[in-house]
Amino acid sequence: MNPSRKPLIAGNWKMNLGGLAGLELAMRVKSLAPQVPGVDLLVAPPFTAIAAVAHELDGTGVFVAAQNLHQQPSGAFTGEISAPMLVESGATWVIVGHSERRQFFGETDAGVDAKIRAATAASLTPIVCVGESLAEREAGRTLEVVGAQLAAVLDAIEGADGAAVAYEPVWAIGTGKNASPGDAEAVHCAIRGWLAARSEALARTTRVLYGGSLKPDNAAALLAQSNIDGGLIGGASLDIASFGAIASAAFAHARNN
Ligand code: PEP
Repeated sequence: MNPSRKPLIAGNWKMNLGGLAGLELAMRVKSLAPQVPGVDLLVAPPFTAIAAVAHELDGTGVFVAAQNLHQQPSGAFTGEISAPMLVESGATWVIVGHSERRQFFGETDAGVDAKIRAATAASLTPIVCVGESLAEREAGRTLEVVGAQLAAVLDAIEGADGAAVAYEPVWAIGTGKNASPGDAEAVHCAIRGWLAARSEALARTTRVLYGGSLKPDNAAALLAQSNIDGGLIGGASLDIASFGAIASAAFAHARNN
């Protein structure tokens, strides 16, 4: 982490904890927040829990994100949720382009771009996910793939005040296999470079998160890398002890640097 950027520790609850259990976890995150001053915490519950979680976390400084949105503000799109609806529910952030959306729901770079713009228009801050598959990594195409994903949405990211980028190697998500700190840092460094090629200010201010089996036992080493500004955490965010340990690792690193 770099002391000029505030660490962001974000929990992606995925399709879990949609009701009372989500509210209970939010209460625990609320208790965690004062223990990690100087670290931004964020939770991304399923749509059904956003309003209750946002109400519980109101005034605590913990951000609430949605995990997805539709790019149109309203209309005949049965089953979809728009950016203005998320704002009404109390969300202030939204995850866009998660690899599970790309993999299982056919999301394309163009769709991700449209969603970032829709989020920005509604004053939702996006976390934009990029990352390569195992086959792409093994073919030595990691930087080509991640670079192309980022290039496709760079204009939209530049227009979204405070947007974060999450580097999430697809092969590391939910598998227990994390990128080594050195391999992750190499990609984060490249992302920082692509942001800098657009604008020094964009590179200096954009938080680039690592995601992919981030856990208490690997958090300190990953978060120590100078271009890793926090984490997007799936599985380990469902357990307050694990989420708290990762947030504490970020806090300890920020305090000592
Ligand atoms: C994620 O869902 O963004 C993620 C990184 O999941 P996990 O931490 O479970 O690998």
